[in-house]
Amino acid sequence: MIQIDPKNWFFEPHQGSAIGLEIQHKLHEEQSSYQKIEVYATQTFGHLLVLDGYVMLTSRDNFIYHEMMSHPALFTHPNPQRVVIIGGGDGGTLQQVLQHEEVKQATQIDIDERVTRVSEQFFPELCTHNNDPRATLLFIDGLRWMREAAAKSIDVIIVDSTDPVGPGEGLFTADFYRDCYRALDDGGILVQQSESPLLHADSIIKPMHQALRTAGFEATRTLQFPLCTYPSGWWTATLGGKEKKFPTFREEQARQASFDTRYYTADIHQASFALPRFLQQLLA
Ligand code: SAM
Repeated sequence: MIQIDPKNWFFEPHQGSAIGLEIQHKLHEEQSSYQKIEVYATQTFGHLLVLDGYVMLTSRDNFIYHEMMSHPALFTHPNPQRVVIIGGGDGGTLQQVLQHEEVKQATQIDIDERVTRVSEQFFPELCTHNNDPRATLLFIDGLRWMREAAAKSIDVIIVDSTDPVGPGEGLFTADFYRDCYRALDDGGILVQQSESPLLHADSIIKPMHQALRTAGFEATRTLQFPLCTYPSGWWTATLGGKEKKFPTFREEQARQASFDTRYYTADIHQASFALPRFLQQLLA
């Protein structure tokens, strides 16, 4: 049997299993006004960002998450000029969003400025677009910001939040989605990380579809992708569209994108919406 020294490992236990990463040392720890922020140097996954004990990202696999949170929604909206990111303080989603030339303004609203400052220090490769002239970074509660947002002022909303505990809890409710619906222009799309299909299908994915529909989103879809450092190693994002049918995937533009991706391709885009039978049945 392989022997490990738990002192040298970071574990995130969840529903009787645990994601573990072997660490070299802790690089940073602080208690911000909202959450405990930790950064570790790991043996094989680069730097690891942890908020309140939950893995947020590692240097090695965050590209899968950030690309899948951004490109499927942006290549589905016919002309995504105004994008709002709720959460996302590490900068990774903003970086992907700003690869799209159509985007004229991207506003990132994270409640906790310390997440951004710590990310700038330990994940500078994700923060390359924080000073882009098209980017605005705000540090306030996304729930409050969305309540006050002008009607029909946004094309795509990306909710890149923590799990539905602590400050992120309200971001998983029909009340919040109603504010998003009002703030989205005709044809607008919302996408939100919706946790693990294996562990959270009943508790998060299905209720998210229901809450989105209650809030007025006529079309809802979930896509899936692997993410080995999140519980179960398998993750989803759920989209809500304002119109009855999602706009047609801009496949040709995705195939001829002017920027490089490491995970996302036009084929991955289409394949990611193919769901296993248990999810199809649950969401029918
Ligand atoms: N990729 C991550 C995941 O799914 O585990 C999430 C990344 S991220 C850094 C999440 C961010 O959401 C955190 O920086 C946190 O401060 C922010 N957040 C949580 N609740 C929020 C709220 N109500 N308004 C704005 N940002 C919020």
